[in-house]
Amino acid sequence: MQFRDLRTQYDKHKTSIDSAISRVMEMTAFIGGAEVKELEKELSDYVGVKNCISCANGTDALQLALMAWNIGVGDAVFVPDFTFFSSGEIVSAIGATPVFVDVEEDTFNICPNSLQRQIEWVINNTNLNMKAIVAVDLFGDPANHPEIRKIADKYHMYVLEDGAQGFGGSIGSKKACSFGDISTTSFFPAKPLGCYGDGGAVFTDNDEWAEIIRSLKVHGKGADKYDNIRIGMNSRLDTIQAAILLEKLKFFDEEIDKCNRVADMYMKYMPQDDRIVLPTIKQGHTSSWAQYTILLESGELRNDAMSKLKENCIPSMIYYKKPMHMQKAFEILGVGMDDYANTTSICQRCLSLPMSAYIEEEDVKRISVVFSQLK
Ligand SMILES: *Cc1c(COP(=O)(O)O)cnc(C)c1O
Repeated sequence: MQFRDLRTQYDKHKTSIDSAISRVMEMTAFIGGAEVKELEKELSDYVGVKNCISCANGTDALQLALMAWNIGVGDAVFVPDFTFFSSGEIVSAIGATPVFVDVEEDTFNICPNSLQRQIEWVINNTNLNMKAIVAVDLFGDPANHPEIRKIADKYHMYVLEDGAQGFGGSIGSKKACSFGDISTTSFFPAKPLGCYGDGGAVFTDNDEWAEIIRSLKVHGKGADKYDNIRIGMNSRLDTIQAAILLEKLKFFDEEIDKCNRVADMYMKYMPQDDRIVLPTIKQGHTSSWAQYTILLESGELRNDAMSKLKENCIPSMIYYKKPMHMQKAFEILGVGMDDYANTTSICQRCLSLPMSAYIEEEDVKRISVVFSQLK
């Protein structure tokens, strides 16, 4: 059993993916080939947002958004305390100050009440200009975007939706990556829509920002790459990755459906045990199931579960071990009130189990049996 089964996916779709790669090889337009434009068009249609700008990875995508908004030294950006490092790294990378915000224990996503408290703390204790909120769709479930939007409007801040894990999820009829003023995703192989290397994309309805980002991702180009009107970066999606993504997009919705069926199987087979909390998806939300993450009653129980799973050759992972505010890289920061009870507790108790469109019912049964044998 694989944690995220890319092998079975490739074997199943090998013919179409290999021929897509071959076509790019024949054309030899390795950067900026026709597939890149075609993919951007398909992705913007899929998400329902006017502009899609592909780039080299999900981290660059986030950074490009903050650069387009001219965020930098003296600015505060609010970031969930429980997320992948990138969501906060990009804030510091451009010289701004990340302010970490606790998450909800049931959804693992940024907590609107904690956000409100940190905003008041920043107003009362710093001279920082509050510019943006990074709303991460963690593990595939879209953040509470309606509530975050209200708070952003109240304090005149932008919402940057980090949909690296949320792509393919939705709230009602609105797709993930349509909730931010700018939204981003990652095509890292293990993400819901993964390519066979690194890749990312930025989404926005705002044409002016889209144009700035198209410039920023190619050395701040003006009329062309050799006319440079701003300091940018080199962040492009290559044509082979675009061609692979175009093929994978064809069966993407089917895979999301299957992942949701796997989540239903976990619900059905995992033992009824007060010490095990299965993920809850808010009413009206659809998750893309980037991860299937449960909470155990204690760290000891998690250790017990992990070693029993290992004995049975079942992979499991801890996403994430450390709250952002505890990362060494942010040690010197000291911005924000110490209000991280949920994240601290989740980091000690969370455990991610195998999840993909290629997990079988028998696999879920086997995993569930292990949980019925906990001490
Ligand atoms: C993976 C991920 C990123 C970064 O994407 P890369 O393509 O690896 O740079 C950013 N945010 C979150 C929440 C992620 O899971």
